[in-house]
Parts: sequence; C-alpha cells; structure tokens
Amino acid sequence: MGLLSLGTPLQWYESRPHNEHVRQNGIQQLLYIFRAAHGRKDDPLLWGDEIEYMACKFDDRQNTAVLAIDDDDVLTELNIEDKGLCDAQNVSFHPEYGRFMIEATPARPFTGVDLQYVEENMASRREVAERKLGARGIELLSLAVFPRMGCEGFTDVRQVWSSHNSASRSLYLPDQVINRHARFPTLTANIRTRRGEKVCINVPMFQDEHTPKSDDTVYQRDWFTPEDLEAPLAAKPGFIYMDSMGFGMGCSCLQLTFQAPTIDKARYLYDALVNFAPILLAATAASPAFKGWLADQDVRWNVISSAVDDRTPYERSVAPLLPEHNNAHGHSTKPIPQRIPKSRYSAVDLYLGGNAFFDRKFNDADVPINEGALQELQTNSLFPMDYDLARHFSHLFIRDPLVLFQELIDQDNKHSTDHFENIQSTNWQTLRFKPPTQAATPDNKTAPGWRVEFRPMEIHLTDFENAAYANFIYLIVECILKFSNEIDNYVPMSQVWQNMELAHHRDAVLRERFYWKSSFTAEGTGKYTFAEIFHHPAFGIFPQFIDRILKDKKWVSSSWTELKNSSDPAQVRLFYYLKLVHDRATGVLPTTANFLREYITTHPSYKKDSRLTAEINYEMLKMASRVTHLDDSKDEVSNFFGSEIASYLLKSSS
Ligand code: ADP
Ligand code: MG
Ligand code: MG
Ligand code: MG
Ligand code: MG
Ligand code: MG
Repeated sequence: MGLLSLGTPLQWYESRPHNEHVRQNGIQQLLYIFRAAHGRKDDPLLWGDEIEYMACKFDDRQNTAVLAIDDDDVLTELNIEDKGLCDAQNVSFHPEYGRFMIEATPARPFTGVDLQYVEENMASRREVAERKLGARGIELLSLAVFPRMGCEGFTDVRQVWSSHNSASRSLYLPDQVINRHARFPTLTANIRTRRGEKVCINVPMFQDEHTPKSDDTVYQRDWFTPEDLEAPLAAKPGFIYMDSMGFGMGCSCLQLTFQAPTIDKARYLYDALVNFAPILLAATAASPAFKGWLADQDVRWNVISSAVDDRTPYERSVAPLLPEHNNAHGHSTKPIPQRIPKSRYSAVDLYLGGNAFFDRKFNDADVPINEGALQELQTNSLFPMDYDLARHFSHLFIRDPLVLFQELIDQDNKHSTDHFENIQSTNWQTLRFKPPTQAATPDNKTAPGWRVEFRPMEIHLTDFENAAYANFIYLIVECILKFSNEIDNYVPMSQVWQNMELAHHRDAVLRERFYWKSSFTAEGTGKYTFAEIFHHPAFGIFPQFIDRILKDKKWVSSSWTELKNSSDPAQVRLFYYLKLVHDRATGVLPTTANFLREYITTHPSYKKDSRLTAEINYEMLKMASRVTHLDDSKDEVSNFFGSEIASYLLKSSS
C-alpha cells in the first residue's frame, strides 16, 4: 500500500457515473508510462518484502487473547515521531485494512543477494514496532489469520456494537475493525453496494465426531434490510459462514517485489513465476481456523477472494439471494453486462508473453476482457502495445473503480497514475506486474523500473521463516533472470487454476498432486507430488533453480546441502532457510497450518466439535508468541522446527 490519497471518497452511487472516465484516463496514464519507460535497460535486481502483523492483547487473568483495535495511533507515531529512527533502521510502516494491522517493509529495497540482511531488517521492524506497542501491553504477532475473528469478544473494545456497522453490515465484524482512513470503510461499503448483497464467504468446516451440521453462530438481527435477511440463505450446511470484507483483508501475508532489468525480462519473470504461486501457497499454509471454527482447508486465499468479490449476481451467473431486494443488475454501467468467472482477488488470469517460449495456447482459461481498452491499447498513437500485453491490461480494466476521491477525478495523465492505479491496485492477483511511473525514463535511475510482485504466500510467526521464504523466492528469481534463455515454465493457465484449488486442501503438500513442468526445456506437464516438485533431478525446484544458481555463484559444487559446512555464517543460515522450506514441503516438518491444527485437536479441552474456544485460542496464541520469540521453555520451538533447525536457531540467537 503506497501513500493513502487524502480527500473525499465518493459513495458508490456518486462514484459510478465516473467509472468510464477513470478507465479511459487510466489507460491514457498507462500509455504515457509505457512511452516514458519502455526503453529502460540494466535496472538492478532490487527487491523487498512486505510483512503484515496483528496487534494482539493477552489478558492473563481472564485467559483471553484479542485483537487490539484502538491503538492504531501507533502507526501515526511510527511515521512521524519515529521517522528518524525508522530511516536509520531502514524500516517503514504502512496502514493496512484492519485497524489492528500494521504492514512493514524495508524503507529502501534490498540490493541483490543480501541474505542475512533480509532477516536483520525484518527483526528491526519487529523491534521498532514492538517497543512502541509493548509499552501499551500489546504484542505484535505475524499470524496469517486471527482464528477467532468475528467471535464474541474478539477485540479489546467492549462496546463494539454501540454504533451499527453501516459500512460492512456484517453480523460479526463491527466497523471499528476497519482502518479509520475513509478509503477503507468506503471500499467496504462500495463492494457491498455494487454486489447488491453482503459478500459471502463459505469455508468448508472440518468434520470431527461432534461437529454441528452447520455454523450455529448465524443469528437473526433487524438493523439492516435486506442485508440482515441474507444469512439464512447465504450460509450453507457444513460450512463456516462469514459476511464481511474484514474476514479476508484482515488476513496477513508475505509479499515480495522484484525489479527486472527491462520490461521484456519483467514479463518473462512474471510468466515464469505463475505456476510457482499455487505451489508456494500450499507450501506456506498457515490458516487452519476461521471465526472460531476449524476449517477443512489450510490457507486464507479463497477467503479473501470472496471477501472482496464485488461482482453482481448476473456477473457471477447466479440468482440473487433476495430477488425482490436486489437491484445489482443496474450496477453495471456497461451497455451489455459481462459474465465474470472470477473475483477481482484471484489467481493470475493471463500470461504476458513476449518471449520465444510463449505460445497463446497457454492462455487457455475463460478470461473476459474490456474490448474497448484492448483496441485503444493496441492502436493508440502514444505507445501501441502488442496483443498479449494489451490483453492483460484489458482484462484488469473489466473492473470498476471501487473508491474514487472527489478531488482526484480530473488528473493530468502525463504525470499522474492515480486512475491507472485505482484499477490496477484493486486487481488482487497471485502476481502483480508493476509498471513504473511516467518519471521512469531510461536515464532516470532514481525512479523504480519494471517490477513483479509475488503475492500468494502466507505469513509466518518468526522472522527466520519469513526470511527463509523470501530468500528462497529471491534465489528462484535470480535463477530465472540469469538463465532466461533456457527456462521454459509455461503450464496451461487452466492447470494453474486447478493447482490453486488444490493448494487450499488440508495438508495439500502431503496429499495432492499438482500440475508441474516435466522439463524446463520442453513443453509438457505432469501431475506430481510435492516431493517430486521440490526434488526431482529433472524438474525439481531444488536441483533446477536453487542448486543451479548456487553453483553459478560458486557457493556449492553440486548441492545446496554443502552450505551447511560453509565458513560464511550467512551461507550456513541459508542452509537452514532452505532446509526449513525443504522439510516442510516434504512432510519432515509440519506446515504452520498443520502444527496449529494439531495444537487445537489435541488440546485437553477440545471436544471434537471443530470449535476453537476462547480458552484454546488464548493458549495457542501464547504458544505462538513464545515461538515468535524463540522461547523454547516448553519445547515448542523444537517441536515446530524439528531439533536440528531449532538447536541452530536457539544457539545463533543467544
Ligand atoms: P505494494 O503494497 O503496492 O505492493 P509496498 O510499497 O508496500 O507496495 O511494497 C513494495 C516493496 O517493494 C517493498 O518491500 C519495497 O522495499 C520494494 N521496492 C521498492 N522499490 C523497489 C524497486 N525499485 N524494485 C524492487 N522492489 C522495490
Ligand atoms: Mg504494501
Ligand atoms: Mg498493497
Ligand atoms: Mg487507545
Ligand atoms: Mg499489505
Ligand atoms: Mg504488496
């Protein structure tokens, strides 16, 4: 999230008449960007991560763990009073959707391979924020999902229902969980209004011996008509029912952004990473419970996808829940409304092409496009784009802008990117192709160049784990860019979408087979286990990407395992990063989702009813906090990481 625009956000009905204006000018802004920046060359491999934290409060007398939603002024303090400290530590804090959330990034991007510094910087971020929050009795946890979000008493504010939650109209989440900046409640309300119903999230409930037939937290209320009538129709037996944007955008993830040397390499990198996304989603699974229930899935992705799904019933090809109340048909401003198969938060839709390995047949999924945008992008006089790139952007431009600020309606397209970013930044896909700005001319190296963002991964409790996954992807990216004439990672898009489905399954790393290339020098895919995808000599990630780039650096002669005996402590640490990724992907160590699920189901007070009680939640999050701070007093660090990694970690941290 960049700087938040200030101004007056328009409600949906005021904003809607400007939809076409935003799209048309957004396209012009994009064309000016391309005209300015298409010729950039030799941009260095700068990169950076984003980590999202949740502010949690423990009450050790009541035995409760809750989200702190009234201390968001800390973020302002970090950005103003502590600016000097943050600059000195090279850390930067950003607002996120939840009032209980903080996002942190390095203030300046990393330069190339900087293994140890990545984790050091993550640790500085945690330290700076913890010092602030600790003084208020708040702990900062990097949890993928707060497992009792939406249950009674899940925040530290007593009277949360004293005002009605008119933005979300949720039965469970008060509007006080939403960031105070007007953009966020407006985003929430506008998604709901455009859809013509509250958002609807049904997550399969884990089925245990005494699990109830349906989510018994669904209740009757009469604050809002028709929204309060929806739940009995929207909730499905056997599923956990959630009804608000916050359930999704209140989840945390680990994102990475990489700069490529040229636009063509950025396109190539994007395409090569497409099928890594579902694999790394499954590999980093950390979300076993939602709204106080154990889920029969391990990741957050489809929860966010549904939580921001602004499509009308017509666009989704379903009947409205309450036909007599739903006028969402009228929400499309297009003469002929389109059917739209996927939420604006979903897997990548189209390869960008532009290299010798690409063939249009790989874009084999059903992806609607904005025909007018496609025409304009290809035939304009500023910078006519090739068909494949134009198709990508014209797909993003099927969406309506969700929040428009009154003061920003009219812009100078030669210098502003606001309308483009309005559409671009609300297409939340597994990867994002990030164009620079109009200032990014080839000679202006102070402006960032063409970047690719890797967005599927779940966040982890410790800096060590987050640094491990960040460095793992970094090495893959470096390898892809270095051997770009040799690596062909095109998998039919429809197979990538199937992988995305599979990645949600409980213990997918152990139980599922995913589509993966059978060779990176020829066409063709097979369905493989995680052990094969990570280790097969011919097509495994470790031999084909990690060992290859490590050999190229002359850090090893044949395998990453040699790093263990390196004389360079940074390389030894890299060994343990890679070992963690390896051990989790092959079932030697549990995923975070598996570990937390085990914790719940083996807790003495668990009743085999899939319920995550306040008591279990408290004890589990206390445990999570000990793991976060590498406190092994109850052997939890050793159980979580296995004895070899744990003893290395404990030794190196002391
Ligand atoms: P967003 O929320 O839009 O993805 P953020 O600003 O939160 O963007 O995060 C962007 C990440 O990209 C940060 O980690 C930042 O350090 C990194 N970054 C900044 N400049 C560059 C660059 N030129 N190339 C690659 N990464 C960069
Ligand atoms: Mg961000
Ligand atoms: Mg963002
Ligand atoms: Mg306060
Ligand atoms: Mg974020
Ligand atoms: Mg991001």
